[in-house]
Amino acid sequence: MADILIYLETAQSSDGAALKKPAAEVATAGRALADALGGRLVAVITGSVAPEGVLGRHGVDEVLHVEGDAFGRHLLDAQAAALEAAMADVEPASVLLAATVLGKELSAFVAGRTGRALISDATSVGADGTQVVASKPKYAGKAMAQIAATRPSIVSLRPNAVPAAENPREAATRTLAVEAPAARVRLREVVPSAETQLELTEADIIVSGGRGIGGPDAWDEILGLASALGAAHGASRAVVDAGWRPHAEQVGQTGKTVSPKLYVACGISGAIQHLAGMSSSKVIVAVNKDPEAPIFKVADYGIVGDVHDVLPMLSEAAGSFLAG
Ligand SMILES: Cc1cc2nc3c(=O)[nH]c(=O)nc-3n(C[C@H](O)[C@H](O)[C@H](O)COP(=O)(O)OP(=O)(O)OC[C@H]3O[C@@H](n4cnc5c(N)ncnc54)[C@H](O)[C@@H]3O)c2cc1C
Repeated sequence: MADILIYLETAQSSDGAALKKPAAEVATAGRALADALGGRLVAVITGSVAPEGVLGRHGVDEVLHVEGDAFGRHLLDAQAAALEAAMADVEPASVLLAATVLGKELSAFVAGRTGRALISDATSVGADGTQVVASKPKYAGKAMAQIAATRPSIVSLRPNAVPAAENPREAATRTLAVEAPAARVRLREVVPSAETQLELTEADIIVSGGRGIGGPDAWDEILGLASALGAAHGASRAVVDAGWRPHAEQVGQTGKTVSPKLYVACGISGAIQHLAGMSSSKVIVAVNKDPEAPIFKVADYGIVGDVHDVLPMLSEAAGSFLAG
């Protein structure tokens, strides 16, 4: 029992299904863990995605493909049936998947049904002898917990926490026949969001705004800087509660957890509930007119100033820097 199984999420688009960005990160972490335990790396994917090529590049030895209409959508029962069938086939030491909305739900559901240990939202995973160990931030990033699984485990990995690396090999593909479970829910309609912005949890750069932006009319300053940096844009809860921005953009304890390479917090005080969602960002830049604002305690770079002065200057500088 040294093999590692990874569950790779797909996204639907007008061009069909494709692997989501964290797939390469999960494969990279899975490859390293399989090597440490002396096992193989097996991936399970569902639906109509064409797995050839992509996965072998990131170190997958074998791909188990669960086909069929029932598995093409993110319905929990069907995805759990596919994952559990793959687990029965591979008997892995550990299952890795991305800590996305689906990944968190699926990992908890399947861990409960199979009695596996669950480590959720880990920022790294490795082995100590034959034991799977992982670390994850606690208390809004003030402490790191090191967790060892004392039995076969499921680990969800925070997107953007493990950089994807290439480790090319020939990946064999096998179709895994799985009976679709009786549907307890039926998907009636998918309504695409009007916003086409990059998914926050997968973005490399995020520009977020807080109450200090002053109102929805001034949000163009956030969008302008985000556009100049090629970034996604987020918001604090105060902004979402005020109805300035949709909840899908909220970062924090009751919003999304993000780990971008660069997080720019504008007019955000840095309440602990906001930090809980972004303090594992690699580089944090804060813009706030209050030099005592708590956000400066976690920021790598701080700009004390009025957002309405600073953001246009940053947008212009970013635009000319990236152009030149
Ligand atoms: C159970 C629970 C869950 C929560 N979950 C979340 C969550 O998921 N995400 C989240 O964000 N919050 C969450 N909160 C709310 C959190 O406690 C804060 O209330 C919220 O983060 C504050 O948002 P803010 O920083 O935008 O606003 P404020 O705290 O009002 O801060 C505004 C900041 O803008 C600065 N400012 C004002 N004007 C300007 C200007 N012109 N230029 C520059 N700076 C300026 C001010 O100095 C201040 O620091 C939660 C709270 C609870 C109790």
